[in-house]
Amino acid sequence: MPLQSINPYTGEPLEKIETIDETALEAALDAAARAASAWGAQTVAERARLLHQVAELLRARTRELARCMTLEMGKLIGEAEAEIGKCALVCDYYAENAERLLADVPIASDASRSMVIHQPLGPLLAVMPWNFPFWQVFRCAAPALAAGNPVLLKHASNVPRCALKIERLFEDAGAPDGVFSTLLIDAHRAEAVVADPRVRGVSLTGSDAAGRRVASIAGEHLKRTVLELGGSDAFVVLEDADLDEAVATAVRSRFTNAGQSCIAAKRFIVVDAIAETFVARLRTAIEALVPGDPLDPKTTLAPLARKDLRHSLHEQVLASLDAGARLVLGGQPLDCPGWFYAATLLDAVGPGMPAYDDELFGPVAAVLRAADEGEALEIANDTRFGLGGSVWTRDSDRGERFARRMACGCTFVNGLVKSDPRLPFGGIKESGYGRELGALGILEFVNAKTLWIR
Ligand code: NDP
Repeated sequence: MPLQSINPYTGEPLEKIETIDETALEAALDAAARAASAWGAQTVAERARLLHQVAELLRARTRELARCMTLEMGKLIGEAEAEIGKCALVCDYYAENAERLLADVPIASDASRSMVIHQPLGPLLAVMPWNFPFWQVFRCAAPALAAGNPVLLKHASNVPRCALKIERLFEDAGAPDGVFSTLLIDAHRAEAVVADPRVRGVSLTGSDAAGRRVASIAGEHLKRTVLELGGSDAFVVLEDADLDEAVATAVRSRFTNAGQSCIAAKRFIVVDAIAETFVARLRTAIEALVPGDPLDPKTTLAPLARKDLRHSLHEQVLASLDAGARLVLGGQPLDCPGWFYAATLLDAVGPGMPAYDDELFGPVAAVLRAADEGEALEIANDTRFGLGGSVWTRDSDRGERFARRMACGCTFVNGLVKSDPRLPFGGIKESGYGRELGALGILEFVNAKTLWIR
């Protein structure tokens, strides 16, 4: 079956792209295995040159790459351009810092010298999603390549054009054969690649279902995995919060990328003292969102990336309403071409509703009311996910105390939950394990080898 590239704004097909056959897949795996020794033997400084070159090409091609993303998965053009800029930053970050992050670590022992040295593991399979089709790939690939591991990209089936553009960037930047390849294959064939002995590690960003499946195959073959799965991030608003800032950030966090982000704020936990005011102000801010052509800079609400994703989101909204949530705004697909879903606000959300228990991957904000700070913390942690979370209060000591008790992988006090090349990123519980970015990210796929010298 060819991969289908479809414009989510119109629902019209853009292109059918053939998957690769078994011979081409074998050749790509062989090339990655062959590249591993030469690429791993290069100095970090030599590998950094490729990353700087890729960063330059990303900057030079921003308009073309951003347009490709917007056409293929629907994100707003301004967000797409910013995403390309961030990819260039992560390439530069690892080009400039990998040597320090991978440096030998001397440890005193009974040896005359003993230390930990960091060596590459070999080809890494990157199983990536469509929601940030460039950023997710570069977040995984830049540290892996800097550490000396070739990367094989199995991108989501709805973004094959983006996948090919990324491969082209590496080719044009002068990457040696096999150092970075895109595998145009579906999820089923990717399972055999996870098991293939030439692949030494797997990094997956996507749903918990895909994570479970891929991790179980990797486990059977004793391979390292990093899983960055879904989230249902709490956005906790205490009574002393700056509501102007909290409301503006709430809308940005929940509605950027039409809500299709693992670290979007999904559960707005608001203490009773300010709940009415917060909901009224959030409603006004959400009403101001303008759906339309994502290529038009005036548009502020994008379509969803796929029709089936819109359908599942609507089912979750309906089930939440059936279970007692109160509809404040939206609550249905928009009656126009493309896969738009109305910007939606649900109030009085509680346990037993998909908006409380599951991940809502779309433009739907759920308000959960709490009596006080203690109950807000209980609700924040009452989830099977544990990716990010934020708390809003004018008292930053109080915010820090609260944030330290949130059960998740990244917490922000009075700030938007976001990824940053310098800071580790990842989750706990069913949001996955392992870390990307920062120092911890580059150490995920290395052999931290002990060297003892008499
Ligand atoms: P998936 O998890 O199915 O897709 C993510 C990636 O995993 C894709 O490349 C997909 O390939 C691949 N994949 C899926 N199953 C397997 C498998 N068994 N073996 C190897 N690779 C596999 O997500 P969806 O696109 O279906 O989105 C569903 C939901 O997942 C969303 O509504 C959201 O809740 C969550 N999600 C979370 C993301 C995040 O950032 N954490 C990103 C995207 C989705 P293919 O496309 O070919 O199926």
